[in-house]
Amino acid sequence: RLHNIVQELKGNIRVFCRVRPVLKNEENSLEHIVLSENSITLEKTAESRTGRDKKEATRFSFTFDKVFSPLAKQSVVFEEISHLVQSALDGYNVTIFAYGQTGGGKTYTMEGPTKGPTARKLESRGMIPRAVSQVFLTAEELQVKGWKYSFVASFLEIYNDTIQDLLVSGASRHDYEIKHKPKTSRSSELYVTNLKYESVTSSEEVEMLLHKASENRSVAATAVNDRSSRSHSIFQLHIEGSNECTGQACFAILTLVDLAGSERLNKSQSCGERLKEAQAINLSLSCLAQVITALGHKDQHVPFRNSKLTYLLQNCLSGNSKTLMFVNLSPSYDNFNETLNSLRFAAKVN
Ligand code: ADP
Ligand code: MG
Repeated sequence: RLHNIVQELKGNIRVFCRVRPVLKNEENSLEHIVLSENSITLEKTAESRTGRDKKEATRFSFTFDKVFSPLAKQSVVFEEISHLVQSALDGYNVTIFAYGQTGGGKTYTMEGPTKGPTARKLESRGMIPRAVSQVFLTAEELQVKGWKYSFVASFLEIYNDTIQDLLVSGASRHDYEIKHKPKTSRSSELYVTNLKYESVTSSEEVEMLLHKASENRSVAATAVNDRSSRSHSIFQLHIEGSNECTGQACFAILTLVDLAGSERLNKSQSCGERLKEAQAINLSLSCLAQVITALGHKDQHVPFRNSKLTYLLQNCLSGNSKTLMFVNLSPSYDNFNETLNSLRFAAKVN
């Protein structure tokens, strides 16, 4: 109960910050970052004009609902979101974003390591498989109280403001449009035409879909060199529950979004396809910030329609909903400016 009261007071938007570990060959890392449980400070050192050896530091501090150090394991991070995930079974739309520059750890946080020796280890699994397991486990436990649930999964990608189905391989793709369902429909009001909505009955089935999606994504990546970092990927689990004892019913969508890399474009890249991609990403990320800020302030008008990303998530973000954003950061001093940009973005929506 206390948790609910705190939630009520704070609104339904949370921001968690996560700094990934230093990778091999990464120098100048972490020394400029000071972390506490709720805050992160970046220190920019510069030669002072007076003393030759004296360094002056400019500090940038930010406070978030939670800050995870590079030591934080996936299980520890999940512990902090499991309560939120759980509430999807109570009928709350739950949406979790991963925001940050390419290489910041978004995909690691959401999916887990996608290659390398740890890729198949249970303990390194990301938030998506963990959330899915928990939902199925809890649904089973709730059976004794009369609850029966059914689940439908979808997984799509938005690239240059165009939707692609990640559950379908490249050759058989269609045109995908966001449409309104007839008013009488009980479930989500919005859907995507031609998109695969797969009925699933176990977390193993969802796991298979996740593998399929990840394969489809990497196939596209070789064709157009790592496109995945320049697209938003959106996994959704639609949850419908009914209670035969009490006659209650609920419907909710659990959404997990691996956002496109937030990095600014170099001058040398600012033409052609790259420029178009960068503009699409900038636009959708700034729309997302506007939407989340407006929701946080309980504004009358929320500009959902300004991008496909926000339009698609309109139902999930408004009304009976809870939203969490991870801001994933690189520990490298070389990425100082991008890290600062990410923190400023996150501070804006918090
Ligand atoms: P992004 O999706 O934001 O581009 P990735 O998730 O691909 O970033 O992470 C970049 C690299 O850092 C990958 O090699 C990934 O395995 C590694 N990495 C990211 N976060 C962690 C973490 N918490 N622990 C260990 N390795 C990580
Ligand atoms: Mg990624």
